[in-house]
Amino acid sequence: MNVHEYQSKVIFQTYGIKIPKGYLIQSADQVEPFARKIESDEAVVKAQIHAGGRGKAGGVKIVKSIDGVIDAVDQLLNKPLVTHQTDEKGEMVKSVYLEEACKIDKEYYFSLIFNREKACISFIMSQEGGVEIEQVDKEAILQIDLDKGEALNASHVKQAQEFMDCPLTAFSDLMVNTYQCFNEKEALMIEINPLVLTHSGELIALDAKMSFDDNALFRHPDIEGLRSEESDELEKAASEVGLAYVKLEGNIGCLVNGAGLAMATMDAIKYVKGQPANFLDVGGSADVDKVAKGIELILSDSNVQGIFVNIFGGIMQCDTIALGIVKGLRETEHQVPLVVRFEGNRADYGKSILEQSEFDILFANSMDEGALKIVTKTLKGGQIHEYLGRRA
Ligand code: ADP
Ligand code: MG
Repeated sequence: MNVHEYQSKVIFQTYGIKIPKGYLIQSADQVEPFARKIESDEAVVKAQIHAGGRGKAGGVKIVKSIDGVIDAVDQLLNKPLVTHQTDEKGEMVKSVYLEEACKIDKEYYFSLIFNREKACISFIMSQEGGVEIEQVDKEAILQIDLDKGEALNASHVKQAQEFMDCPLTAFSDLMVNTYQCFNEKEALMIEINPLVLTHSGELIALDAKMSFDDNALFRHPDIEGLRSEESDELEKAASEVGLAYVKLEGNIGCLVNGAGLAMATMDAIKYVKGQPANFLDVGGSADVDKVAKGIELILSDSNVQGIFVNIFGGIMQCDTIALGIVKGLRETEHQVPLVVRFEGNRADYGKSILEQSEFDILFANSMDEGALKIVTKTLKGGQIHEYLGRRA
């Protein structure tokens, strides 16, 4: 699970990691009261989306007056922001973060990751902050690996501090505090880019990105509580009609019966390099209305670009699912390619209902074929070469 910059910064603060003073704005009437609290000459208005690259895309605006804050919020709030990390439709900005501007002497890159390849925790840092770490020369990056549970010691800190050429006490505090935060919260990543050295010699996290291990969230209700409001709304709507639905970050909606089949379907999509947009189990006893609601729910997620319906008709009859699909599609305007795989009870009947409907539905004979069909169907021209490269 990823959280927003302002949420990461709240967590940072509890660990003594320094951040600029800031305020979250979710509606126009909050702008002026918060703008008046800014004590620095300049302020920064930052779009809160789950993607980086905001600076280059106009999502981070430096302003000098209360009117400047009002204008900047007006330009960002409730509008989509497209960055090199979003798709071409961008991500809707549902909140902005207003913070005091820092007087920056130098920008660094600093992160901590759960390193799956080496099965350890890695600090990754560079004096070349502000840019994507992938573009920094290898010689300009320092990586320090620690075994899980290993204590940070003075030689790690010294090695890093000399490499980064930062004030010792401030840097040592930063390493100790981020490491403690990472471990206690069972994070998968803490990224501070840029970490800045200010005119007064402080090290401050200007940007903050954290992600967490979903499987450990039950131990961290405070982090679980940070889930974005959009997913909360969809998950609430689903639980009201008795559907097991979890929003994920991909673009392929899945409608499946049975939790095991739902997991296998997500695996099949990932296996062909697709990303599921949700987990949705309609259960064994769903009726037409419940299936229709499931389809509507999937389509109300603006990230969804294709749907894979994967049904094993045991107790469930495939014609019930087919009628639900048609009903759901008729009730929503957002239409996307849809691939259906029916197996078992009344599969042929279900298929013929869909064939005779006004919708252009594709069919698959197996789960793997269905996953591949929907993933390739959602690729745009330019992405196909890249996709073939990735699959090869
Ligand atoms: P992103 O990584 O999405 O582009 P950042 O939060 O890193 O967004 O902001 C982009 C740039 O904007 C930073 O590299 C920094 O130069 C500047 N910036 C961001 N926040 C502040 C701040 N509080 N004070 C001064 N400059 C800032
Ligand atoms: Mg950044």
